[in-house]
Amino acid sequence: MYIVKAKHIHTGFPGSTMTDGFIVVESGKIKAVEQASELDRWLHEENQEVNVIDLGDVTLMPGLIDVHVHLGFSGGTDPVGRMQSRSNEQLLVEMVSNARLLLKSGVTTARELGARDFLDVAVKEGIEEGLIDGPNLVISNRPITPKGGHCWYMGCECENEEDIRNAVHQHAEAGADLIKIMATGGAITKGTFPWEASFNLQEMKATTEESHGLGLKVAAHAHGVEGIRNSVDANVDTIEHCSWFTKDGIEYNEELVTDIIDKGIYICPTTNISWKIDTKRIEDRIPQLKRMYERGVKFIMGTDAGIPHVTHDKYVDGLEVLALTGMTNAQLLEASTSIAAEALGVQDKTGSIEAGKDADMIAVRGNPLDDISTLRNIEFVMRKGNIPDFVSRS
Ligand SMILES: [Zn+2]
Repeated sequence: MYIVKAKHIHTGFPGSTMTDGFIVVESGKIKAVEQASELDRWLHEENQEVNVIDLGDVTLMPGLIDVHVHLGFSGGTDPVGRMQSRSNEQLLVEMVSNARLLLKSGVTTARELGARDFLDVAVKEGIEEGLIDGPNLVISNRPITPKGGHCWYMGCECENEEDIRNAVHQHAEAGADLIKIMATGGAITKGTFPWEASFNLQEMKATTEESHGLGLKVAAHAHGVEGIRNSVDANVDTIEHCSWFTKDGIEYNEELVTDIIDKGIYICPTTNISWKIDTKRIEDRIPQLKRMYERGVKFIMGTDAGIPHVTHDKYVDGLEVLALTGMTNAQLLEASTSIAAEALGVQDKTGSIEAGKDADMIAVRGNPLDDISTLRNIEFVMRKGNIPDFVSRS
């Protein structure tokens, strides 16, 4: 049993910050969240070995959730070329290394939204068995895409509804936690266009019907307006990017936003460090994101880690870009923890510090509620009660 003490504890719910409290962790789960005055009782009443970890003047909070990562993309200048040049064995080593980097930067849960073949299954198993360090993974296996479509090189090209239904079943059997579909083209795949829809409404509906029938959520990659509309009409669970692209520019659609809100579809705008490099993206897209958030769209934080410039340790840069929408630090933290967990359907296990949930926690020097950049100062990480060896325990 662990007792983890910290000067400040932010449980993950608005306004719920305590001073000098502690968390009791047993068998990987949070057993209690207590005030300092209860410490003696826990130290003496339990007849088992108690490990006290006093973290000192830090903020202890729920581990971060990155709802959009690609473990098999390197984050270098040409991740697609690099992936295509790698054997599965080489790619697996990179995925293991990137999983560790995510955990080291405070991400205790990550949704893997597109991996080649079924390599994500092996990485997830390795983490769960404690063989390697990494976040809890929610995995989609290979993204469903048309022939030659966005990320075709990951191995799941579908030409019609029947192909799609078969792919969904194959993924469910292989261990997918959800299904990812490319509703439009993408910038990093040659020959595809982000504004162009990749599947028609019938094909999108086949995906959601089949997936939901098997209890799997659907994440749709959609940059263009037509693909966003198809995704909404097909009742997907999350929309990735949501860039409002048309061939000629950007066409924000207020009615579609109403449908997104009414259907409770979560949006992951995939803000990341590349927006800081190509600032036109900030100019073009932040105004729409601001309007969406103000109208009540539920945002969840995902970095698209692995795409050019976005290595797996750049979570906070993505949050800083999302902050430009006017979201408060408390709202940004919810999009990174409790609301993200809800979108992934893992809210009973993680996303807040509460008795009964998995012990997925981080501690940072400073207070992220005052200054979001303090999330870079990771001092402590615990995932399901395990402390990775990169955490110094002096
Ligand atoms: Zn992606």
